[in-house]
Amino acid sequence: SLEARHISLSYGTTEVLRDINLKIEPGEFFALLGPSGSGKSTLLRLIAGFSQHQRGELLVDGQDITRIPPHARNIGMVFQSYALWPHMTVWDNVAFGLVERRETRDAIRRKVGAALELVGLGDYGKRRPGQLSGGQQQRVALARTIVIEPRLLLLDEPLSNLDKNLRVQMRDELKHLQRKLGLTTIFVTHDQEEAMTTADRMAVLDKGVLQQTGPATSLFDFPVNRFVAGFVGTAN
Ligand code: ATP
Ligand code: MG
Repeated sequence: SLEARHISLSYGTTEVLRDINLKIEPGEFFALLGPSGSGKSTLLRLIAGFSQHQRGELLVDGQDITRIPPHARNIGMVFQSYALWPHMTVWDNVAFGLVERRETRDAIRRKVGAALELVGLGDYGKRRPGQLSGGQQQRVALARTIVIEPRLLLLDEPLSNLDKNLRVQMRDELKHLQRKLGLTTIFVTHDQEEAMTTADRMAVLDKGVLQQTGPATSLFDFPVNRFVAGFVGTAN
């Protein structure tokens, strides 16, 4: 589970996150929607530990993580750009986090093999990212993240580089994998349909303020303000 209490963050004098309060249950698939610049990536980076914590509390499974360095948080994040290492094989890309943790050779072989199987790339270990399609690269990024068995999975618009058909396919695969592994997930997207079809609950962020949080249908049917109505209803 994740709980954010009174999280605020500023860059200089600009307040990018304003008093964010959020609770995400174990195993929940939570979608975060909002326009460009609303603070979605900033919030994910803060949870992952890539942004300096300023104000408020962040609890993962009841533990305050704000003083824990990013590599020790056991939180997995998939970036919009995938951020794979081009000079390394698929296998080495996925193994990287485990090598860093100094896991045994046997454990690494077993876990990387299983993660690549899970995303349907069992036979692609020897390739390099440049020899894969966009969807396959996206799967490698996902494998690299789930292989560390994260207690929280953060997905920052992971499908936005894909064409529409593949996007729908990957969305369904992602959802399936999330259910199978029971991963507590925050999924950032611009796409209202993507959020409606995957999420247990969702939230809409605007200018660093959470406008509304709830089951996808309740935001659609009972938006609390015009912004949510516009964004969830017709903006996409
Ligand atoms: P998008 O949908 O375009 O990815 P976003 O909701 O993820 O947008 P953020 O990347 O979180 O938006 O940015 C929120 C605001 O914070 C923006 O106004 C952005 O310019 C600003 N910002 C982000 N990173 C920094 C930084 N390192 N220094 C200063 N300002 C920043
Ligand atoms: Mg972003």
